[in-house]
Amino acid sequence: MEYEIVIGLEVHTELATASKIFCGCTTKFGGEPNTHVCEVCSGMPGVLPVLNKQVVEFAIRTGLATNCSITRYNKFDRKNYFYPDLPKAYQISQLYLPICREGFVQISGKQVRIHEIHMEEDAGKLIHDPYDDVTLVDYNRCGVPLLEIVSEPDLCSAEEAIEYLEKLRAILQYTGVSDCKMQEGSFRADVNLSVRPVGQEELGTRTEMKNMNSFKAIARAIECESKRQIAVIEAGGRIIQETRRWDDNKGKSFAMRTKEDAHDYKYFPEPDLPPISISESDIDRVRAALPELPDAKKARYIKEYGLPEYDTEIITRSVELTRLFEEASARCSSPKDTANWIMTELLRLMSDAGVLPEDLAFDFASLGKVIALVSSGKINRGTGKKVFAKVFAENVDPESYIREHNLALVTDTAAIRAELEQVVAANEKSVAEYRGGKEQAFQYLIGQGMRALRGKAPANVVGELLHEIVGC
Ligand SMILES: [Zn+2]
Repeated sequence: MEYEIVIGLEVHTELATASKIFCGCTTKFGGEPNTHVCEVCSGMPGVLPVLNKQVVEFAIRTGLATNCSITRYNKFDRKNYFYPDLPKAYQISQLYLPICREGFVQISGKQVRIHEIHMEEDAGKLIHDPYDDVTLVDYNRCGVPLLEIVSEPDLCSAEEAIEYLEKLRAILQYTGVSDCKMQEGSFRADVNLSVRPVGQEELGTRTEMKNMNSFKAIARAIECESKRQIAVIEAGGRIIQETRRWDDNKGKSFAMRTKEDAHDYKYFPEPDLPPISISESDIDRVRAALPELPDAKKARYIKEYGLPEYDTEIITRSVELTRLFEEASARCSSPKDTANWIMTELLRLMSDAGVLPEDLAFDFASLGKVIALVSSGKINRGTGKKVFAKVFAENVDPESYIREHNLALVTDTAAIRAELEQVVAANEKSVAEYRGGKEQAFQYLIGQGMRALRGKAPANVVGELLHEIVGC
């Protein structure tokens, strides 16, 4: 039988606010365990949460950028559960009236509907230490603001899921609401997956894989989990609604617990926070300040700079790459060259060094300087690549680096000729062999000439001048 895969994604993204959602503690990643905490976020009795306005602003921004309607009157609810990483024993979230509803994200060929976006607080972290057989708890992350972005089950393959996640991440980065550093957990996804025979209307029973923070692992998990479910059904079995843990090293998922539904949490309205009223003018203000989003940028790059669609696809995937592209191409006035350098040299350096776009630490105008130096003939392309590698690694200034290391091409023909005359004088034997008809001897002389000039003269000029000097 033919099956189709049905995937819905719940993305948790940590917001780039300076302080936590209900207290003044810093949201900075890392830090000594339990140093970014206060009475509020560590769940002491008698304290009151105060909502960080920036969180609401970021939620509206995200909602507008994903075509959602904004819930003018929305409020918080308590989601009760006991877990040691959340000392209050409840999470402040939004169940009944989430701040954004019914939007969509465009991917190639389809719109992936957004069911809702709600605001909530993150929990702390448990660190299991198998050596000492203890579990440690770090509350630094407790109370860091989150948006949970819930899609409808509109995705039907690993490729589509990844395309949707990449697009969503780009939107969150463009709008500045999150750095989306997956390795730090600020962009993570729960994958809800079911399968059904092609043509069947009714959805199959779904399983959920939680807190996945690598696109590669998500793609693999989708492949394996869909195969597992099909095999169970084919063998006459039944899929159990449950949470499964994906083990990327083993390439397998394992049952963790049977899935709970909303009613298991005994949600109730949060009594310590007043409802949030959002006015039309609040929304207009946020809308007016929205930056150019990925699709609009792509269209503009094609129209304004004549870039091929393929190039724009790669560059607009990351807001940092678009910043680099814009700054560097403004500097060298050559958008296509800039795109080429980004797609070849930069991406290679990044992949070799394991650097992500958001971690690029050099002055973006420097790439433009390198490109301009190459196209004006000041340095050759090989030197350009070496200089750019230095810019990438150490943020050197290309012009001073070239000056200090004496890398500029020699363009003064008289100076080149003087060097070559010395080479000819020092290699009488080769000159005689060449005059005797041995072509190889001439290649040797060119090699010696380039060496004397330390590769800084154009090879064709060296050849021409050598011919003149040896006289044939
Ligand atoms: Zn705090």
